[in-house]
Amino acid sequence: MFNSFTALAEQQLSGQMLAESEALALLSSPDEDLMDILAAASRIRRRHFGNTVKVNYLVNLKSGLCPEDCTYCSQRLGSAAEILKYTWLRPDEAATQAAAGITGGASRVCLVASGKGPTDRDVSRVTDIVDRLKSDHPGVEVCACLGILKQGQAQRLKEAGVDAYNHNVNTSESHYAEICSTHSYEERVGTVEQSKAAGLSPCSGLIVGMGESAEQLVEAVFALRDLGSESIPINFLMPFDGTPLEGTWDLTPQDCLRILAMVRFACPDKEIRIAAGREMHLRSLQPLALHVANSLFLGDYLTSEGQDAEADLAMIADSGFVILGAGDTGPGSSSKVSIRRRGAGTDAAANA
Ligand code: SF4
Repeated sequence: MFNSFTALAEQQLSGQMLAESEALALLSSPDEDLMDILAAASRIRRRHFGNTVKVNYLVNLKSGLCPEDCTYCSQRLGSAAEILKYTWLRPDEAATQAAAGITGGASRVCLVASGKGPTDRDVSRVTDIVDRLKSDHPGVEVCACLGILKQGQAQRLKEAGVDAYNHNVNTSESHYAEICSTHSYEERVGTVEQSKAAGLSPCSGLIVGMGESAEQLVEAVFALRDLGSESIPINFLMPFDGTPLEGTWDLTPQDCLRILAMVRFACPDKEIRIAAGREMHLRSLQPLALHVANSLFLGDYLTSEGQDAEADLAMIADSGFVILGAGDTGPGSSSKVSIRRRGAGTDAAANA
């Protein structure tokens, strides 16, 4: 076992692989050690990514109405969550949505569609959108997230100019049957491997806080390491009302930070993204997460609202980071002092 978190970070920086016992020790460490863990994880993050944050932007091309039964998902079969439901956006609508994120600093646009997987016609719809996006924004990276792929579909996406393919394993193989019965963990892994074989950058990550044990969490992270996932979104369960995991609040902000740090120690040079649920689970500790993760989704998620994109950008700048590809815009603030109009001396309720 390691002597200190700094020593463990040095081990990872010298190319040693994190052991299961070390990963479990990170997850079970007391809150009083948290700042030491973050400082050590931050050394690894800065060695590989400096002070940059990669900004990604989600466009939900097709929302809701999925026949699959993933328990965490607001778009699942039987979900009573009151989300937007619509079928495929047209290429011009998708391009308009993507442009908002690119203007906000996103260097990667993630095109997502609900469902088990695309038909060949769906792949054609997406390649039309990619054509449009790449001609409007030649430098932008495009990641597709369309579910489980059939033979040849990854190659078609690659030939159309798609850069990456996202398919999250979400949880460990040993926990998978608890969260979905309509497709298997193996199918998910097969799609990650298929996209990798086609030359797409594999993006695969997790949803944490779904009742998995610490051992299962480590199992899932080590599986992502073995799969060679280049970017690893870490979602924190958003327990939508109207889904089976409604009311599941298993995470503290400190747990979230320990999990992120464990992933950083296990996958030192991979893009680690704070994804859906970061606002409600990390809460006021969100900026600390940027010292471990090097990537985020800007603004809103697939079916829920995130914090304002402006607040995301301010968090990045205030924490001393710069947006990858955008250069250093320097210190400054667009905030103005708000004159108090509530509390003492007014009829409005106080801010407390
Ligand atoms: S995660 Fe994907 S496959 Fe599962 S229910 Fe949601 S949209 Fe469907």
